[in-house]
Amino acid sequence: MSEHPIHIKSKLPLVGTTIFTIMSALAVEHDAINLSQGYPDFSCKDALQDLVYKHIKAGHNQYAPMAGLPLLRRLLAEKVMKLYNFPLHPEHEVTITAGGTQAIYTAINAFVHRGDEVIIFEPAYDCYIPAILMAGGSPISVPLQYPDYSIDWNHVKKLITAKTKMIVINTPHNPSGKILGREDMKALEKITENTDIIVLSDEVYEHIVFDEASHESVWKHEKLAKRSLAVYSFGKSYHVTGWKMGYCMAPEYLMKEFRKVHQFLVFSVNTPFQHAIAEYLQQSDDYLELNQFYQEKRDFFLSAIKQSRFEILPSKGTYFQLLSYKKISEELDTDFAVRMTIEHKVASVPLSVFYKSKEDNKVLRFCFAKGKDTLEKAAEILSKI
Ligand code: GLN
Repeated sequence: MSEHPIHIKSKLPLVGTTIFTIMSALAVEHDAINLSQGYPDFSCKDALQDLVYKHIKAGHNQYAPMAGLPLLRRLLAEKVMKLYNFPLHPEHEVTITAGGTQAIYTAINAFVHRGDEVIIFEPAYDCYIPAILMAGGSPISVPLQYPDYSIDWNHVKKLITAKTKMIVINTPHNPSGKILGREDMKALEKITENTDIIVLSDEVYEHIVFDEASHESVWKHEKLAKRSLAVYSFGKSYHVTGWKMGYCMAPEYLMKEFRKVHQFLVFSVNTPFQHAIAEYLQQSDDYLELNQFYQEKRDFFLSAIKQSRFEILPSKGTYFQLLSYKKISEELDTDFAVRMTIEHKVASVPLSVFYKSKEDNKVLRFCFAKGKDTLEKAAEILSKI
């Protein structure tokens, strides 16, 4: 007899609790340095905090317009024009969302029908597959080639069928830290030409790209831009992941469908924070300093673990660093990550959880969006393992 009073059929039978929640909880339980879940342990700018307070006090506390504050949308469209030289219409082509994850879920569920195929690249950020499954679609995985996590576009091409509805790209890439280059975007443009495939481009780390490389937004590629939705996150750009605010941009014919779902998922996103960000955007373009800011953190962390037995994989963007522990242990990466948290008091994320096949290359992901002291302490521990 079932232990529950009624029988339910799970819509996501194979899905458990997200790895970020699991590892962060384990870090707290064992008082470990938490380099697992990706979030900064430092504060956003005072000026931005003050603006939130100001706008709450000014009475901006009721529903925002469904698609977001018009001023904020206009400023974001202008930003895309400035950075990527692509015109987006603020009224019809920009929507403020409750973070990147909501935008991704909404985009997938607005377009993917039962039986449709969606191509994703693995390791894949963990919200893509559940969103595809909820839409009744089938995730089709393409492996990023270890150890440089590059894409074999010929392989992608071979996987395209009459059922392919969408390709999800993510650059800079979480969890690998790989970025897509111009050639990748050209290859994607070519294989989607004369198809009805929609591109969903997760660009939440657009401002965290290292070593003078530039971010390849879909907006830089005119043909791709016509079939793409791109997703962004204020959390990453202003150190405010807990605000759960982001946005989606897409040509009007795609955005129209996106909004049909968005309005019944969240209706609109919190008002005073939208006012605050809009005002802050008019005062500062300090997101342009993030590349340098995080590159220094990456380099500090890497130089502090130089003597360790971990092997460093290239991190070209995001605030994540992959380290291989193959010289240290043969344990499964999930076991090793748990043991490191409990015994050595440093929490990370094992890469195998981002693969359907649980591929295990003995690699862990570390978040370096942390203060120097924290990175130093973690590095000291890692150097002794
Ligand atoms: N994006 C964050 C990461 O990769 C996690 C976000 C979350 O916990 N949902 O660690």
